[in-house]
Amino acid sequence: MTVLVAGAGPAGLMLAGELALAGVEVTVVDRLAGRSAFCRGFTLNARSLELLDRRGIAGRFLAEGPLVTHNMFADPRRPLELGVMRTDHPYVLGIAQTRVEELLEQWVAELGVRVRWGCEVTGLDQDGDGVTVTVRSGDGEERVRASHLAGCDGSRSTVRKLAGIGFPGTPATMSGLLADVELVDPAALPYGVTEGERGAVFVIPRPGYVRIVLTEPSPPGDRDQPVGLAYFRRVLDETLGRTVVLGAARWLTRFSDAARQADRYVAGRVVLAGDAAHIHPPAGAVGVNVALDDAVNLGWKLAATVLGHAPDGLLSTYHDERHPAGARVLRTTRAQAILGRRDPGLDPLRSLLGELAELPAVRRHLAELMTGVSTRYDPKIPGDHPWLGGLAPNLKLFTDGRATSVAELLAPARPLLLTFTPRSLPALPTGRVDVHHGRCPGHPDLEALLLRPDGHTAWISTKPSPQPPETLTAALATWIGAEI
Ligand SMILES: Cc1cc2nc3c(=O)[nH]c(=O)nc-3n(C[C@H](O)[C@H](O)[C@H](O)COP(=O)(O)OP(=O)(O)OC[C@H]3O[C@@H](n4cnc5c(N)ncnc54)[C@H](O)[C@@H]3O)c2cc1C
Repeated sequence: MTVLVAGAGPAGLMLAGELALAGVEVTVVDRLAGRSAFCRGFTLNARSLELLDRRGIAGRFLAEGPLVTHNMFADPRRPLELGVMRTDHPYVLGIAQTRVEELLEQWVAELGVRVRWGCEVTGLDQDGDGVTVTVRSGDGEERVRASHLAGCDGSRSTVRKLAGIGFPGTPATMSGLLADVELVDPAALPYGVTEGERGAVFVIPRPGYVRIVLTEPSPPGDRDQPVGLAYFRRVLDETLGRTVVLGAARWLTRFSDAARQADRYVAGRVVLAGDAAHIHPPAGAVGVNVALDDAVNLGWKLAATVLGHAPDGLLSTYHDERHPAGARVLRTTRAQAILGRRDPGLDPLRSLLGELAELPAVRRHLAELMTGVSTRYDPKIPGDHPWLGGLAPNLKLFTDGRATSVAELLAPARPLLLTFTPRSLPALPTGRVDVHHGRCPGHPDLEALLLRPDGHTAWISTKPSPQPPETLTAALATWIGAEI
């Protein structure tokens, strides 16, 4: 039976790819007539690149843009070096979100998934066997029957509302304006932060134009009101205290620091991912990345559920794992937004945090937190190995007579059992675990390793502390299903 995915943004496309890899039929619908020309995000971070690596497609993205080796936590004058992170990708990739989406759409097309543009989800009924979804298009309304509905339909998610899922959080305390415009005199406004008479103006270079971001001093009551170029020019000039001549505008919009999170990521046969599940201040530029992260965690669990071999409660671990991860994103970005306020009362806090961030351990903690590199999930089995619950490193391996890697072996998105010493294995769920025996020269202490399809370490045995076979059986029963 099909999974219907509402929304062809980063979350929906990544989820569609994950489901297709697992052999689940998937249909993606999007209410837009085609991909939006407006580009919101410009970054992929280390965690996203690690996950894309484990599907064999990171190279397509890395070929597209520059690698930036620092980010910003709170103070633009104190860049946060990313080289301290424990990852294969200690940088941010500069790549337009629209290009990320195009590349993902190409990938899912290779896997046989087509996006149906111009199709909007407007209604939902759930029963014990599936969902009936109303989809409106130029051809009228149709009722689509599916096993599950995935709401990847952005911050104002219709699916979330139709499923009656709450979206509590903190309302906007500021309003920002964003303009993608041409600067008549490029020297009139330098890249980076310019402190004006009434506030700061942030300028990001783009090919042929610039992105200007500033705080709107008196936003209108109706925040959905369109932003006009004349209005933006006035606010910019008032903020700077001088006139900057702007040329044509490509995109003008408003954003806020509202932070909200769905109270359930799974409601019966409805699941949420990406902005549909959480919104947060734009600090740190992580939204696309968190959307991909949600989708990779959800994909294999939803697939196993639809195909009927998921262990009890597997799908609800999506909420159990990604809700706290989302809450951390909200906390971090809210902290960044607060620290970014133009309030001299915050100066002592900024200065103290800046000093702390000079400490190597704090720097690494902040960098790995902001980029998701330190993401860990409860492995649900005892053990204190540092890899347990985290994304396993991309180990270089020799298996089946050839050189390979963890990332390459995970590309089919299937559970992976690697053994490095002769050991008797418990009975494995037939055909559902890829088993490879080989060598890992970089880690001669490794005995065996069980990885979930998303690359997280479900079980590990090493020579100094070998794990008894029952613990592997327990890990298999938790994540893959025990029956043979
Ligand atoms: C100004 C700005 C700058 C940003 N910069 C960055 C950045 O640099 N880096 C970063 O990582 N993130 C950035 N973000 C955040 C990022 O854009 C979002 O977090 C990301 O797009 C979320 O992806 P998504 O797939 O969850 O949702 P979306 O990208 O919003 O996709 C949702 C899709 O669902 C469709 N849809 C909506 N309703 C329906 C319906 N009823 N039926 C069918 N389809 C529907 C929409 O048309 C849309 O295509 C930025 C956001 C903003 C606003």
